[in-house]
Amino acid sequence: MQIINPATEEIIAEIPQDKAASLDLKFKMLKNAAESWADCPIQHRIRVIQKFSDSLSKQIDALAATLTSEVGKPLSQSRQEINGAKTRIQWLAEHAEQYLGDEVMTRLADMEERISYEPLGVVCNISAWNYPWLVGVNVFISALLAGNAVMYKPSEYALLTGLAIENLLKEAGIPEGVFQVALGGGDVGEYLLNLPFDGYFFTGSYKTGQHIYEKCALKMVPCQLEMGGKDPLYITDDITDIQQVAAGTADGAFYNNGQSCCSVERIYVHKHIYENYLQEFLKTVSSWKVGSPSDESVYFGPLTRKDQLKVLENQVQDALVKGAHLHLGGNRLKGKGYYFQPTVLTDVTHQMLVMKEESFGPIIGIMKVENDEEAISLMQDTEYGLTAAVYGSDRKRAERILHQMNAGSGYWNCCDRVSAALPWSGRKHSGFGATLSHAGLQSFVRPKSWHLRSQTRL
Ligand code: NAD
Repeated sequence: MQIINPATEEIIAEIPQDKAASLDLKFKMLKNAAESWADCPIQHRIRVIQKFSDSLSKQIDALAATLTSEVGKPLSQSRQEINGAKTRIQWLAEHAEQYLGDEVMTRLADMEERISYEPLGVVCNISAWNYPWLVGVNVFISALLAGNAVMYKPSEYALLTGLAIENLLKEAGIPEGVFQVALGGGDVGEYLLNLPFDGYFFTGSYKTGQHIYEKCALKMVPCQLEMGGKDPLYITDDITDIQQVAAGTADGAFYNNGQSCCSVERIYVHKHIYENYLQEFLKTVSSWKVGSPSDESVYFGPLTRKDQLKVLENQVQDALVKGAHLHLGGNRLKGKGYYFQPTVLTDVTHQMLVMKEESFGPIIGIMKVENDEEAISLMQDTEYGLTAAVYGSDRKRAERILHQMNAGSGYWNCCDRVSAALPWSGRKHSGFGATLSHAGLQSFVRPKSWHLRSQTRL
């Protein structure tokens, strides 16, 4: 497999792809190693994971450079991602014992009722490229802490990072058979679906996730899906600092080139502040530099995938034909690299692709609304259900609006944000199940109920 730098279009590495025989062998190794990993004390597993976490700080520059070279993320954002992964690992490691330990529910004179949490066994983690460290850690760290063996399939766009993760985990003390990396694209993922894993944990697009869910239905094992979003954000009329809000929400839409599952993908603005907000938003976006991701001052690097350029061009064309107004961008950049100009559209409607389908790029539609009721109705008009955000000074008003959203996360005066302490979870086409928090740790275990009676007579 050729690894291509999306900023230069140069081949930077070639990696042998896994074949059926090597995948079968890796699966066998996992199966053989799973029991002893499950049996070792959780304190040992926590120590190994903490050692892995420590190694990230020591090697951050090299790891960030690798990530940038294969996904095109600006170096500063690559470093932020790795530091963010470390924060999540620390939270999970610090809370693993609390949420995965046995719980005594009832203690009577002759009866104890207890719950223990047993690992699923050998789990398969099929992952995405946009935050390979963060979305990877969400799954494989929790799975390992809970005592599972893991087949990690990084995206074909983030293979070098996948291999770096494997090396560091092994150096930290994860036994050889407990963590294996499956190298390849969709066909390798497809092959994994036919192996007898004890659970499937997927991060990626709705299209692939739906297919995986269908295949898993026949296997009768847990299947958890974290998929895309079309996340709405509403700016009410009572915000006090339009400039700050415009800057913060533009970052929510454009950070990582808009290639985040929880990127702001649609903005609705109350008519009383619409003009001011739009001008400040455009000022902020125009001030951000587009260029080589290894330049520390760059905000917009290239897109990771060449194919996405066409998707974005198509969304822009569709919007313009249907009457949208283009304020910024709208085109790919000439020359080497998969660059797309940061793009801002207004006069958009829900008949346009840009307001309905996940863009996953540096493009945003901004729409003026009359009142909260119109905003709520437009925000709800989506197949997805990952996050929704409201900016304004009235917390009650924001909470009332967010209660009505069928989404896994609600944000007041913030957006595009994930916390290790809270469940990360989608609804509808954004998926189901949870990673992170106590719920995310418990996604990787099965409860066993113990009815322990000290008397043998009735
Ligand atoms: P994708 O669906 O193209 O690929 C995801 C993974 O699935 C890759 O490893 C790929 O090789 C594998 N795959 C492809 N076809 C397969 C098949 N037939 N069987 C098994 N595996 C297969 O998604 P992507 O482009 O890597 O990721 C982008 C998407 O992921 C976006 O929609 C984004 O919103 C979503 N995402 C969601 C979250 C979340 O937490 N909800 C986080 C990050 C990304």
